[in-house]
Amino acid sequence: MRPNLLNPLFASLTSLPGVGPKLEKLYAHLLGRESPRVADLLFHMPSGAIDRRARPKLNEVQDGQMVTVAVTVEEHRPAPRHRPRAPYRIITGDDSGLTLTLTYFNARQDYLEKLLPPGETRYVSGTAHFYDGMLQMVHPDRVVDEKGFANLPLVEPVYPLTEGLALGNVRRAMDGALARLPALAEWQDEAWVARERLPDFAQALRLLHRPAQPPDVLPESPAWTRLAYDELLAGQLALALLRAHMRRQAGRGSASEGLLRARVMKALPYTLTHSQQKAVDDIVTDLARPQRMLRLLQGDVGSGKTVVALITAATVIEAGRQAALMAPTEILARQHLQTIAPLAQAAGIRVAILTGRERGSERKDILDRLAFGDIDLLLGTHALFQPDVAFRDLALAIVDEQHRFGVHQRLALAQKGQAVDMLVLTATPIPRTLVLTYFGDMDVSELREKPAGRQPIDTRTIPLARVAEVEDAVGRALDAGQRAYWVCPLVDESEKIDLAAAQARFEELREKFGDEVALVHGRMKGADKDAAMARFASGQARLLVATTVIEVGVDVPEATVMVIEHAERFGLAQLHQLRGRIGRGSGHSTCLLLYKTPLGETAKARLAILRETEDGFRIAEEDLRLRGEGDLLGTRQSGEPGFRIARLEFHGKFLGAARDDAALILARDPSLESARGEALRTLLYLFEKDEAIRLIRAG
Ligand code: ADP
Ligand code: MG
Repeated sequence: MRPNLLNPLFASLTSLPGVGPKLEKLYAHLLGRESPRVADLLFHMPSGAIDRRARPKLNEVQDGQMVTVAVTVEEHRPAPRHRPRAPYRIITGDDSGLTLTLTYFNARQDYLEKLLPPGETRYVSGTAHFYDGMLQMVHPDRVVDEKGFANLPLVEPVYPLTEGLALGNVRRAMDGALARLPALAEWQDEAWVARERLPDFAQALRLLHRPAQPPDVLPESPAWTRLAYDELLAGQLALALLRAHMRRQAGRGSASEGLLRARVMKALPYTLTHSQQKAVDDIVTDLARPQRMLRLLQGDVGSGKTVVALITAATVIEAGRQAALMAPTEILARQHLQTIAPLAQAAGIRVAILTGRERGSERKDILDRLAFGDIDLLLGTHALFQPDVAFRDLALAIVDEQHRFGVHQRLALAQKGQAVDMLVLTATPIPRTLVLTYFGDMDVSELREKPAGRQPIDTRTIPLARVAEVEDAVGRALDAGQRAYWVCPLVDESEKIDLAAAQARFEELREKFGDEVALVHGRMKGADKDAAMARFASGQARLLVATTVIEVGVDVPEATVMVIEHAERFGLAQLHQLRGRIGRGSGHSTCLLLYKTPLGETAKARLAILRETEDGFRIAEEDLRLRGEGDLLGTRQSGEPGFRIARLEFHGKFLGAARDDAALILARDPSLESARGEALRTLLYLFEKDEAIRLIRAG
């Protein structure tokens, strides 16, 4: 149970003064959580700070500078009567001899006369610009008199906001949140905290949200560093606990002579690449050992992870046991079935699939056969870890596209057997630092080479305005017998506008190309999705209009053209994943990235990288650099929160230390029972690692 001490931080944000249901919705959007809590707000870091200490003279103000100046009001110049829509100007000046014009649109004269009476001194904050050589400020942020100024904080944080939410709202709510902060026992090593002169947890939050000087709100500041390290330590501690828990249950060792493996390999129409063979060897060695396997198989899109998974499964099946392969989407699970079924049949492996769609007697039949041991390999989605799914003897759990699942989901599957060996597959090439973050010190096999015969993909960027040309090009490809994807952005499946856009594009393309066009999106019924995918896979349909549901894993080697609409709205890793759907066969492939102008700098850089390289590892590193870690794994979509405080570009260097720290802590105090252990439990709750704490209890 979470300590009561933390209750104020886990109370709803609406418990703060000034936050009602309407603002709660805005905060939900801002903080990325449906019902945000006080802690979520406290972990919302400032993006900068306003400094009111330096009040430059007007002749010192730079163009575009955000300033606070003390000026004397000289003259009001209301809009002339015959031009009521012209701005209302107020001329002010100081003893440097320059003037500053305050410009208001749609202003009320009586209000402005009260706010800025001629002859009086006022403190004015806002962004100053030179316009025709004259210093101007349009709609100042604040205008106060001497007394009002004395009441303003000299340094004030600025936050990322969302439409409808004002800085004032956030600051007021933050005041309330800070007042709720309990005093918490130190969980970090006291000597280290003293040596590095770091504030304690509560002090750090106060410093960030009530900075004494602007550098206090920088990611490198002692306060932010401290909180980032707290978050990293919580993460590494949770992973270490998970790992310890899994290791405690000794594995059983599934030795085999490799006959079944050999039969699968014989059924393959190709030979394994070196790195596939090496991965198989690693895994088979792991499986034969009496310890549990915890291995990550990491390989770029199209590197051939599925077949490695199957061969691995054959090993435990030969030992008379069962394996499960879990995929994040229905489409992927069915596709695995299609790929695996013929190979399995040739080798004599009994395969079945279980998703949300198998119901009633069909489902019951599958469950019976599974419990009886008549199914060797069960493929499926989240449905696999429903409570009534029972294996006769599950030995190996394979989780595809790992980052889409949370830690507890991984565990739920592993708990369906005794000492289940775990193999997780990930197509997102994750940079080293992130492997550490998400998987702790799991063993890693990498598929670095692509299967032979792949050709480079020709990637081009084209403004959306030229979409007609792109349609013509797609038409020529279809005429030449090729198959193409047309991807429309659908960041959030509930976004009606995006869905409508995808639908409209589909209608338009169907008008042009007729029945050869199919549509698939996340809102469609499972059976309809399958039907559309099947038509495309078989070549009945040759142009597939899709939202990002095709992003992970879909494998149609005959597809050679990929059009991505609004490429600027996608993350780099996501674009790479999408592009990975083509270039799988021996044909020459083309990827057309359509973007809306004007492009921001980051978007420009992102698209340029895609043109330059197909190396997923390089792309992932660049993505990390350009976007920060949060979006890289698409964690926001998967519901497994990424970091809230730590920014890996600044704090990633502490990951190794946090991991070592976690290992040391658990070596000394495996059940976290010492005084510091108790404090560390609080830390785990604070960062919502409740599951990890349950693992301690489970022993
Ligand atoms: P991913 O790693 O993205 O999951 P897949 O397992 O879907 O990749 O494999 C991509 C494609 O490559 C499949 O069509 C598969 O049959 C093929 N493939 C896998 N291994 C090889 C190989 N060694 N040689 C040739 N083709 C291969
Ligand atoms: Mg795959």
